[in-house]
Amino acid sequence: MIELDGLTKRYGNKVAVDQLSCVIKPGMVTGFLGPNGAGKSTTMRMMLDLDNPTSGSVRIDGKHYRELEEPLKYIGALLDAKAMHGGRSAYNNLLCLAQSNRIPEQRVAEVLETVGLTAVARKKSKGFSLGMGQRLGIASALLGDPRILMFDEPVNGLDPEGIHWIRNLMKTLASQGRTIFVSSHLMSEMALTADHLIVIGQGRLLADTSMADFIQEN
Ligand code: ADP
Ligand code: ADP
Repeated sequence: MIELDGLTKRYGNKVAVDQLSCVIKPGMVTGFLGPNGAGKSTTMRMMLDLDNPTSGSVRIDGKHYRELEEPLKYIGALLDAKAMHGGRSAYNNLLCLAQSNRIPEQRVAEVLETVGLTAVARKKSKGFSLGMGQRLGIASALLGDPRILMFDEPVNGLDPEGIHWIRNLMKTLASQGRTIFVSSHLMSEMALTADHLIVIGQGRLLADTSMADFIQEN
């Protein structure tokens, strides 16, 4: 379970995330909906300790991200600017990540298979299409077999087959009892994947409701 409590981020005078409090539960896909600039990425970055809150907190099963031992085994994420070493093969990018996080090498081949990149595993990732890069980012999120997965706008750059694939992947991961938190600026996308919806606008919480209730009320 993830708990945001009064989470706030200011950049100068600009309030990117404003007193955001909510709980993200396991065993379902929680959608994080809001227009571009609403504060979704900033929130996710703070959840992963990539950015410091101005005030408020994030707790992951009661702990701060920094207190997690072997965080990749606990929480995996696909963010926009997923840094991969373009000069390395897909395999070696994942292998480096595995080795620095005490994850067995066999997981590299497993996650490459899961995301459908086995055939191009030895190719340099800088030659990858946007969709292949997205799949590689998802592979890195899955590497530690984490209980919590966060995906920031995951369908961006994917072709229709890839979009279908990631929707199913998220549902499968949720059915295994994992916590899935996925952002999108498109209600149509959320309606196809999310069981629960957290809506933000200008950094503020606008709705926190089951998808069924949200559709009935809107
Ligand atoms: P650093 O990681 O060195 O803090 P960033 O690359 O995040 O810097 O950003 C550099 C500058 O660009 C920031 O000081 C900020 O003012 C501006 N900036 C970055 N991202 C955004 C954004 N999404 N919207 C507005 N300004 C931004
Ligand atoms: P979303 O992911 O919902 O599109 P973001 O979290 O990227 O929204 O951005 C929320 C707001 O914060 C935007 O107005 C954006 O310009 C601003 N912002 C994000 N990062 C920075 C930064 N490093 N410096 C200044 N402003 C930023």
